[in-house]
Amino acid sequence: MTGRASMGARAGDDWVERVREASDLVEIVRQTVALRRVGRNWVGLCPFHSEKTPSFTVSPERGLYHCFSCKVGGDVFKFVQESEKVGFLEAVEMLSRRAGIPVPSRHGEGGGVRGALLEALEHAADSYEQWLRDPTRGAAARAYLARRGLSEESLRAFRLGLAPEGWQNLSDRLRARVGDDILCQAGLAARRDGEGRGLYDRFRHRLMIPLVAPGGEVVGFGARALDDSPPKYLNSPESPVYRKSAFVYALDRARRALQEAGELIVVEGYFDAIALHQAGVTHTVATSGTALTADHARTFQRLVPRVALTFDGDAAGRDATMRSVGALLAAGLEVLIVDLPAGEDPDTLVRARGRVGWEERRAAAYDPVEFVHRYVHRAATASGSQPADAQERSLQAVVTLAAGVPDPVRVKLLLERAAETFGVPESVLSRGVALRQQGGRIESPVRAVVREQQRGEAGLERELLRALLQAPQALDAVRQRLSPEDFRDPGCRALALWMWAGHAGLPSDDVGAPLARELAVAEPERLDWPAVAHGATRRMVLRRLREKQRERTHRLKVATAEDEQTRLMHEIAEIARQLHELSQ
Ligand SMILES: [Zn+2]
Repeated sequence: MTGRASMGARAGDDWVERVREASDLVEIVRQTVALRRVGRNWVGLCPFHSEKTPSFTVSPERGLYHCFSCKVGGDVFKFVQESEKVGFLEAVEMLSRRAGIPVPSRHGEGGGVRGALLEALEHAADSYEQWLRDPTRGAAARAYLARRGLSEESLRAFRLGLAPEGWQNLSDRLRARVGDDILCQAGLAARRDGEGRGLYDRFRHRLMIPLVAPGGEVVGFGARALDDSPPKYLNSPESPVYRKSAFVYALDRARRALQEAGELIVVEGYFDAIALHQAGVTHTVATSGTALTADHARTFQRLVPRVALTFDGDAAGRDATMRSVGALLAAGLEVLIVDLPAGEDPDTLVRARGRVGWEERRAAAYDPVEFVHRYVHRAATASGSQPADAQERSLQAVVTLAAGVPDPVRVKLLLERAAETFGVPESVLSRGVALRQQGGRIESPVRAVVREQQRGEAGLERELLRALLQAPQALDAVRQRLSPEDFRDPGCRALALWMWAGHAGLPSDDVGAPLARELAVAEPERLDWPAVAHGATRRMVLRRLREKQRERTHRLKVATAEDEQTRLMHEIAEIARQLHELSQ
């Protein structure tokens, strides 16, 4: 609690200079810009224009910043004015609050709505905190928080509070200090309809989670119902100080840990963020229940090179994750996706298994291509789509992601990974990306290559089945090296299942019969059918081994646990041995 008094301080230059002295420019710039020390100065990427080589310099001695490219510059107040898009007085007030220096009250005109809103929200946060601490009123809510495993320290650090039952606890309490209009604009209260004058509280019987901006000001609230009243979570409405699509929860606390961690973890819920902080994973933030926007991505991009998202495995979450990945890649960030066990969120995970449980999951995180492989590809396969459709859908997802990435080097890396994972030529994918970037449709090039590939595979499978129909005596040897699962084409696989099961003659069912009849028609030239079967089998085994090799090699690249690395290296060596043997 800052317990600001709005009286007593003398307004004027004295106050402004006190705030200036108490505000460390480097520290304030570092809330939003990653800086590194060069001699007496600090340098980083300019937050006011887009650049790849740092030309933004901060001089702590002179208390000034300057960008050599776009020529912006000024003192700490100017920096806050420009980066927070506020006027001079508001900038001084924000820094004053941050430094714990009382803000002189502003009477009459020139007050500024923004300042008044922040003041009202701060009073509200104070009141909610006090109600939570109240021995009787706060008891049930505190018991609930204790059941969720939240420590006393976390409650204080995140300033959790309670909006008690009743319609006007807060309105009554703040009315003497805050005008009705401001209470409504801040989203704390609303006007009663038709009863003349009067306000009622927006948040009632809820656990209050203050939404704190990087400068330390409360800009709104997230509120969780303490009974069954819907909605379970209620957020402050947007206001001149709170924009949902740009707000990042817990960034005020996370930013100190970013430099060392080198990455930012983004979770979905406020309690997920608090739980990870409490477990010591303090480079964690959350959004206000929205997918990541370009605004979020830009904010992150100024702070870290890499963002790790969490994914809890449901289909709706998968699409939201794909959108978030797209926004982050487009901002030039490296992205990882941390896959959580089914039914778990970060909160339940660290509650059950602590920091170690989290670290294990983080170590096994996927890159975007692997995420597509696991979730788009497998989901499509599981829903009964043809293999070609699943492959096509996955590749289109990758092409769509890559088309949004501005840096050609990163695009190339992404496509190399996709080519390796899905076994298609990189050139086709880059053509798809080029078409997409020109606003064209990407279906055709991607579809063409996938169909072509399928035809090649089906051709090989048909060749083997034809040979086996002509020379059934070869089946025993083939059966030892291949299983029906090695056939990709659904028709071929059905026929193989039937043959592998030991049936003789031709199948009569609808699945295998047409294909069997087609293949059984003897070709004019008499071939050495057992030799054909042997050759086709060998090529199918090679195909399976190469695919396995690709997959294991990729997993080795991303594996971080030592025992997993060792196991994968053994497997890769064994595959290489088998490939060598086959080529003898
Ligand atoms: Zn600049």
